[in-house]
Amino acid sequence: MNVSRRDFLKYCSMTAAALGLSAHDLLGLKEALANPNGPTVLWLQGAGCSGCSISFLNRISTAAPKTAGDLLINSINLAYHPNLSSLAGDAVVNVINQAYTKGNYVLIVEGAVPTAFNGAACFAWSYKGVDKTFKDAVNMLASKAAKIVSIGTCAAFGGIPASGGNPTQVVSVATATGKPTINIPGCPPHPDWIVWAISQILLKNAVTLDANGRPTALYAKSVHDTCYRKGTEAAKSFGQATGCLKELGCKGPSTKANCPTLKWHNGVNWCIGASAPCMGCTEPTFPIANPFYKNV
Ligand code: SF4
Ligand code: SF4
Repeated sequence: MNVSRRDFLKYCSMTAAALGLSAHDLLGLKEALANPNGPTVLWLQGAGCSGCSISFLNRISTAAPKTAGDLLINSINLAYHPNLSSLAGDAVVNVINQAYTKGNYVLIVEGAVPTAFNGAACFAWSYKGVDKTFKDAVNMLASKAAKIVSIGTCAAFGGIPASGGNPTQVVSVATATGKPTINIPGCPPHPDWIVWAISQILLKNAVTLDANGRPTALYAKSVHDTCYRKGTEAAKSFGQATGCLKELGCKGPSTKANCPTLKWHNGVNWCIGASAPCMGCTEPTFPIANPFYKNV
């Protein structure tokens, strides 16, 4: 894990168009990253599957910076990430507490917040033998955060953990904390969306959000708007390489995301390109409104 800030800038240059970063933004980002007093980032994981972190890891596996550690540890002061921090136990909680004492950090939350049983369905850490519920950890750290970013549909809207009977009364980070969040939904979110959000914070750019807290720079158009299958004859079966998938349940018309133009896996392909319908994974209604998921 020895990739420099210059490599991060190179990465940003490579994806500047996709991220919507202007040449002016890149210059500002260079200065922001050169600042040794850049923002500390605390990344929490709650009720979720860690898929957002995995998505992020996958994005940067083929281009510098090649690992999440390169980006987050060497370019940004990542004080805590459950999967990436080398410290554990009380030692890592000391790091979290030091950041909390200073305040003004960026809080990234992945996963939703269970609130039933006084939060005891999900724990963030144990310190000196005392367990900390995820609900209490999120509320504590949100209270002194400069920005809160909800990564993934679970953190942004509740997502799969909040669906069905929801016996642990899972809610979004914004609902749990009562604080505004920058929502980067997706199940998982595209890794470039995550990088975009972090970049905007480093640049101190104002982020325009839609009614669901999503940046309009990423989630303005529906998937259907720019889908290459729009206006084509209806596909008759799943996996069909041509034809509109709407009659097979595609949620593209009611789903906001730039997947058709950005694509996934470093621009290789995306859901509909792989002949699978859009599942509406960036919407607050996911997965309830999806015909492929039924309550049992
Ligand atoms: S496949 Fe889905 S997103 Fe594409 S044109 Fe049809 S309904 Fe719209
Ligand atoms: S195409 Fe639809 S289901 Fe696939 S990642 Fe984009 S928003 Fe999610």
